[in-house]
Amino acid sequence: MTVGVLALQGDVREHLEVLKRIGVAPVEVRLPQHLAAIDRLIIPGGESTTIGRLLYRYQLLEPIRARAGRDLAVWGTCAGAILLAAEVLDAKQGGQPTIGIMEMTVRRNAYGSQLESFETPLVVPVLGTPPLPGVFIRAPLIEAVGREVEVLARLPDGAIVAARQGRLLATTFHPELTDDDRMHRYFLEL
Ligand code: GLN
Repeated sequence: MTVGVLALQGDVREHLEVLKRIGVAPVEVRLPQHLAAIDRLIIPGGESTTIGRLLYRYQLLEPIRARAGRDLAVWGTCAGAILLAAEVLDAKQGGQPTIGIMEMTVRRNAYGSQLESFETPLVVPVLGTPPLPGVFIRAPLIEAVGREVEVLARLPDGAIVAARQGRLLATTFHPELTDDDRMHRYFLEL
């Protein structure tokens, strides 16, 4: 198993560090040829408009789209979740390139200016106890999911913050910014 971290923009280093900590030697993915070696890919948080533009420019969009969910398991955190979603609400005016393969509707910057960033413990039944620390930074909201998508976690108000569709995983928060590596381990088992 070889795990790649998309290394175009965002909190790439934090994901690389968690993977190394749990004994995985990650590959940094910047060019199409880097995809050949990997069977899992993490798309970090950052700015989905920038990451999408760079995915397009470096000709990574099509090869990722062709394999994602099949022989390439993909996990998007925050901006990465936006890039996976089939439908993006409040997208950048004029549109933004996305991978667009996971059956869900995501709203960018959904928590508004007051609550742009917050931390809260999350009950994630597939990870057991204790709750997972949830770090939300200008987070998107998963507003709706398709029939193939399993909801993995919600906020107390019902907002969906983690979801899985087969070998696709989306979290609107940042497990890579905490010491808790259970979500990374979960991804490695998909
Ligand atoms: N607000 C960012 C976006 O729309 C996502 C923020 C993040 O990844 N922490 O892409």
